[in-house]
Amino acid sequence: MGLFSKALTLPKSIATTTLTLTEAPLPNRVILPLRQYIGEPAKTCVSVGDRVKVGQLIATADSHNTLPLHATISGKVAGITEHLYHTGIRLPAIIIEADGADSWIGPKAQEDREPLSPDEMIERIHGAGLILKGLHPIPLARDLSPVDQPKTHLALTGRRVVKRTDTLLIAALDPEPSLGINRYHAQRENDQLAHGIAALKAITGAQRTVFVVDRTQPPFPQLIEMVAKDEEEATRIISLDGTRFPVGLPIPLIKAALGREVALPYGHPRDVGVALYDIDTTISIGGSVKSQIPQVETLITVGGGALAQRGIVRIRIGVEIGALIEALGGFSQEPAKMILGGPMMGMAQYDLTVPIGKEISGLFALRADEIGRSKDYRQCISCGLCVKVCPVNLIPGLLSLYCARDRFDAAERERLLSCIECGCCDYVCPSQRPMVHLFRHAKHQLLET
Ligand code: SF4
Ligand code: SF4
Repeated sequence: MGLFSKALTLPKSIATTTLTLTEAPLPNRVILPLRQYIGEPAKTCVSVGDRVKVGQLIATADSHNTLPLHATISGKVAGITEHLYHTGIRLPAIIIEADGADSWIGPKAQEDREPLSPDEMIERIHGAGLILKGLHPIPLARDLSPVDQPKTHLALTGRRVVKRTDTLLIAALDPEPSLGINRYHAQRENDQLAHGIAALKAITGAQRTVFVVDRTQPPFPQLIEMVAKDEEEATRIISLDGTRFPVGLPIPLIKAALGREVALPYGHPRDVGVALYDIDTTISIGGSVKSQIPQVETLITVGGGALAQRGIVRIRIGVEIGALIEALGGFSQEPAKMILGGPMMGMAQYDLTVPIGKEISGLFALRADEIGRSKDYRQCISCGLCVKVCPVNLIPGLLSLYCARDRFDAAERERLLSCIECGCCDYVCPSQRPMVHLFRHAKHQLLET
């Protein structure tokens, strides 16, 4: 679509994902950090030696700035201690050793006789421990409330501007072409999807629903049926080329699908009347509102040429990277780089005991020929390629010079904080400058001071 012309077509070796589902075997232990998002850590409510069942509350949350945590396997609490997380920081975590029984706590809610209010729905979403994935993962309930106001309250001459949410945008695209969870869901029946959409419409007040699908995929029977059944014609499907990157990221997606521009750096989709959630999150919302199912498992995309098995994998949250890879048949060859997240935006990992948290959507073990980057970067040659691909119209080369010289104020003036860390500039730079690495470091410095 012309509105969003700056995008990359990634090589098939990176962009191709197998969309078949594998159920990962139960792990022998899980490591559950008390904070897997931006916010306050949950408060432990179990002790070392306690026996726990799957779905049992093990850490509580007293506000929407934190998330309750549930046991993801049954067994014994083996430790409450700090453990390395994928962000490179050691976090307090609850370690559970499996008893192999996989016994679950009983169902919490029966069918509701009365419709729930939006606030009651949000409390169920929060109680299930749902997270909003993304560049800055946060408790989902925090994103959903307050229910009747935009997230960024624009101050014009001292008055608050309130904008109604008119559109629920459900992304059946993935943030990166190599990730496949949303495209996997979009092709299959799922009873929870309709519940999730109904809940999101009630919470946000959106009158119409728009699905954004990948036009390179076959038709989507359930979504097409939903459009056909909507007598008010308030549901539609928009198709975009999901192999183009970063069309699946929130800001470019809204622009490409609806032609609306979210102001950066602090803007939010609600500011332009849009409630944007991906189909995976919508299904989880449906499950939590209807049945109060706590989040104990998640789907991730497993890929990269160094792995024996690739595809969509259902895992228990908290399984360690190494244990999962071993359970899936191990490495087919020596990996040159391990990544949690997608190859374009994920974080490199150096320790196989790092657990896979709720906010993770991919695990990749890449061969050396899939990385194509040497360790040493060179001077910028002012070729301008990075400017051509930046989806938010920054000058990445100049930003990288400022950041490399610790001139963070100058980088801020050049709109560093508007960078969505897509990595497109990194990808095309002939001098192999580690742009995103430099930008993350600089942002961290700016936001800490
Ligand atoms: S500067 Fe930021 S937003 Fe622009 S291409 Fe680079 S990583 Fe993406
Ligand atoms: S792509 Fe690399 S070499 Fe070219 S202008 Fe950007 S930073 Fe400089």
